[in-house]
Amino acid sequence: MSRIIGAIAGSTQLLGVMGYPIKHTLSPVMHNEAIAHLGVDYVYLPFPVAPSDLGDALRGFTALGVRGFNVTIPHKQTIVPLLNEVSAIAQAVGAVNTVWRTESGWSGTNTDVHGFLSPLVDLAENLVKDWSTVTVVVLGNGGAARAVVAGCHQLGCKSICVVGRDTQKLEIFRQSWLTGPLPIHLEIYPWETLSALLPRADLLVNTTPMGMAPNVDASPVSALNLTQLPSGAIAYDLIYTPKPTQFLKDAAQGGAIVIDGLEMLVHQGAMALEHWLGQPAPVTVMRSALQRHLKLDEKVGS
Ligand code: NAP
Repeated sequence: MSRIIGAIAGSTQLLGVMGYPIKHTLSPVMHNEAIAHLGVDYVYLPFPVAPSDLGDALRGFTALGVRGFNVTIPHKQTIVPLLNEVSAIAQAVGAVNTVWRTESGWSGTNTDVHGFLSPLVDLAENLVKDWSTVTVVVLGNGGAARAVVAGCHQLGCKSICVVGRDTQKLEIFRQSWLTGPLPIHLEIYPWETLSALLPRADLLVNTTPMGMAPNVDASPVSALNLTQLPSGAIAYDLIYTPKPTQFLKDAAQGGAIVIDGLEMLVHQGAMALEHWLGQPAPVTVMRSALQRHLKLDEKVGS
């Protein structure tokens, strides 16, 4: 941290992340490491912004000359109408996580879709020849599930099945995709029917917090049920602590190929940094910063 403070000068430009609460964000760790590595004159700060202060905060950012910022819970949806321009992908997802300043005001996009897709496309390069044959089963229907649905639609997956515990919320989720800029026909299923879906799940994505630290023994799917996945299935958990989760341990034991949430975190951040700086982000540096911070063994890989 002393290295970053030492690098701040009168010319230093501001980047950051706004959320509420914001104390636990990992974004400053990876972005400040990337900034130091690139030797650019920026600093990335956490901004706690209560929901009732969102408009004031945005006007304050304009007045202070903030160059760009990330947006996290609870502002990802509510900031959308306050921006001058919102990308098509952010409109489809219904949430913005990255904002930058343009001559006409604030522009926003959603880099979570890119973050979700990056490790999947890399891993699947030699495994999945044709995404149009792939059935995806998404566990959960909250904010992160929206980026997953948009990403799977971009890949051209055959069917996107979303499984949730609240059938009313599930139906609202389904309908929201019918009328958006990216019309998507989802199949929705109540949680109790998950077991019957698993033999179809070429890609199974956990977007629920089940299994996240400190509840590390929890899993959205039992080890026994995971043995029903088809051969060559990919199990993807958006959670990055612990790494791997119980869900991924059980899925790997059952023969599935597994992906954890760290790469999504790194790649959504890398794409945000590229929007702000207009140059390639040092992905390896950002990944290492997070791994060190989370005390993960870098040799374990992603
Ligand atoms: P969210 O909006 O609160 O959505 C969570 C979803 O999980 C909701 O559909 C919720 O159902 C469901 N759920 C929660 N507990 C459940 C349970 N016991 N049984 C069944 N369903 C349950 O949260 P989010 O922002 O989407 O985040 C979800 C997870 O993704 C978190 O662990 C987060 O850390 C992770 N994430 C990772 C990244 C990354 O970069 N790797 C990015 C974003 C999120 P109800 O609606 O019925 O409550």
